[in-house]
Amino acid sequence: MTDVPSPLVGVPPLDVRHLTVAYHGVIALDDVSVAIPPHAVTGIVGPNGAGKTTFLHAVMGLLPYQGGEIAVWGDTVGQARRRIAYVPQREVVDWAFPITVEEVVMMGRYTPQRIARKPNAADRDAARSALAQVGMEAFARRQIGTLSGGQQQRVFIARALAQQAALLILDEPFTGIDAASQETIFHLLTDLRTEGRTVLLSTHDLSSIRTHCDYVLCLNRRVIAFGPAATTFRIEVLERTYGGRLFHLHGDEGMILS
Ligand code: ATP
Repeated sequence: MTDVPSPLVGVPPLDVRHLTVAYHGVIALDDVSVAIPPHAVTGIVGPNGAGKTTFLHAVMGLLPYQGGEIAVWGDTVGQARRRIAYVPQREVVDWAFPITVEEVVMMGRYTPQRIARKPNAADRDAARSALAQVGMEAFARRQIGTLSGGQQQRVFIARALAQQAALLILDEPFTGIDAASQETIFHLLTDLRTEGRTVLLSTHDLSSIRTHCDYVLCLNRRVIAFGPAATTFRIEVLERTYGGRLFHLHGDEGMILS
């Protein structure tokens, strides 16, 4: 696909300043500021409860926040909504819902104004082309719940492509997915970045950050570190992010969590 909208040059896709979110008075994100770079894959890491999903939900406008500002290419989230696509955590999706792969992808074509209208030929072409890009054309008529976890993630990425979103946000896309599917999805995300999109994802898979992400945001209620993965993703930064829950096996490459 060559139809990625070209948003303003020099304005970050996502500019978050002093974001503070609390649930019932308990702070989940405290004064978080970060500017996500364009045309890059940024990974968010942090322990359970660090606020990764809260951050992504706030960015998507799904949560009220107590302080700070969020700008998407200089616009409010509401103004920019069509340019952002969100792939939620697998566990919050109702996989038994009777909907086909093609119908899921077609949802990327709906807008609040166009929700009631029937899909036209252009919508069908966009859906087909998006499915082809993720290698899922042959599954168009299948019920979404009958696919493997990796295939389901690819379908949701196709929905984002059909939407022609310039910013893709994925919440733990690799949870419950085998290593080969994970690799396929990472290659797909890298291609999307190369064609001009911006990708932001949260993950618990630390081993993939240096190999597959351009930037890393280490989060634990606050920003512990943010920068190029090659220079930021270091043992001491991860120790600060995860506290005592990090074990070293063989140098930086062999880190696991307790
Ligand atoms: P995980 O890696 O386990 O998915 P996370 O980094 O995505 O965690 P969040 O789900 O954003 O973390 O949660 C951050 C904090 O906010 C946690 O302490 C969590 O218990 C709390 N929290 C999240 N959602 C709610 C909610 N709806 N009501 C109350 N507290 C919440």
